[in-house]
Amino acid sequence: MQEIYFDNAATTQVLPEIADIAVRMMCEDYGNPSAMYGRGLQAERAVKEAREQVAALIGAQPQDIIFTSGATEANNMALRGGMKARARRGKHMVVSALEHQSVIQTVRAMLELGYDFDLVPVDTNGRLNPTVLQNMMRSDTIMASIMLVNNEVGTIQQIPELRRAIDAKRSQVLLHVDASQALGKMPIDVGELGVDLLTASGHKLHAPKGVGFIYVRPGLRIPPFINGGGQEAGWRSGTENTPGICALGLAAKLAREQMGTRLEQVKQVRAVFLQGLKDLSGWRVNGEGADLLPHILSVAFDGVKSEVLLHMLEEKGLLVAAGAACSSRKDTLSHVLRAMRMRRNLIEGTVRFSFSHLNTVDEAERASQLVCQAVQDLRGII
Ligand code: PMP
Repeated sequence: MQEIYFDNAATTQVLPEIADIAVRMMCEDYGNPSAMYGRGLQAERAVKEAREQVAALIGAQPQDIIFTSGATEANNMALRGGMKARARRGKHMVVSALEHQSVIQTVRAMLELGYDFDLVPVDTNGRLNPTVLQNMMRSDTIMASIMLVNNEVGTIQQIPELRRAIDAKRSQVLLHVDASQALGKMPIDVGELGVDLLTASGHKLHAPKGVGFIYVRPGLRIPPFINGGGQEAGWRSGTENTPGICALGLAAKLAREQMGTRLEQVKQVRAVFLQGLKDLSGWRVNGEGADLLPHILSVAFDGVKSEVLLHMLEEKGLLVAAGAACSSRKDTLSHVLRAMRMRRNLIEGTVRFSFSHLNTVDEAERASQLVCQAVQDLRGII
């Protein structure tokens, strides 16, 4: 049985050429980038190139990229650092109700430090409304955190419009955007988005786990996140994860070069999969009234418990997720689907299929047949 992996929003397979560069950085070019001899300089040059590759993918300058251990760390750094940088102007932030736990739990933890936050509601398709956001700005609001693409549903937010809405009400509010699910899958230009801070992770883009980055807008000074030997221009100390960083650099380069062809492949896989579900009744695509990234497809099935469906599909070799795969509290109902005001039974019947360009049309056909069969079997039991 050939396994079908439709859980690419949770993590992706590392591409062979990306694994090769990580191995090279571990086994051959293993010098410490801070060392003064040739092997160290070689490693330093490789990190420099990776920084340029990541910057090019988001329309930034290399010096504005700081490598981290992933998006969770980058989100912590963005929120804690951003809030500290603006602390004299206020203590309030607004955070979209759709954010990943690495944002939600960070702002929760910051309550203890005297900061305050409000969750920005979304409509039933998972979209933020600029006017609602604008009206939530207080005289002490100093930061907003809004993800570009939601990891459970795939909703794309209109960041430039939201930025304008914020600016029209209050100046100098820092805008942080978590681009973990969007990076390399849709064009991103930090200037056009109008962001101050942008974060993402390598393992969603065929690089290994444990590496990510934060973009900090030129001129914005945030305090160091990890103190020590002064690596990453003093912002994030610790000997650089050169295998991960160089892998992320190559992943960024490949994503930029192949964005169009990869997107076509993913769109085709999604279309064929959806076509295969046509004869099945009692299901709908969550958030379908909004702009959705084709890589993520959240489907609510009537009369089915996603946990049970998930296991049935796994037995047949199809790997998918119920709700957010990276949430540790899996017993609670998805905060994203609740924010979209979905009924409990539909939330409990929601499965996330997420694609990459490595998936094939043949897999999409087989997967849709497996889903139809499993859903019908489950409904038959009830
Ligand atoms: N933000 C979003 C939107 C994500 O999907 C994820 C990964 N599930 C993260 C942050 C956390 O990334 P990492 O695993 O690199 O810490």
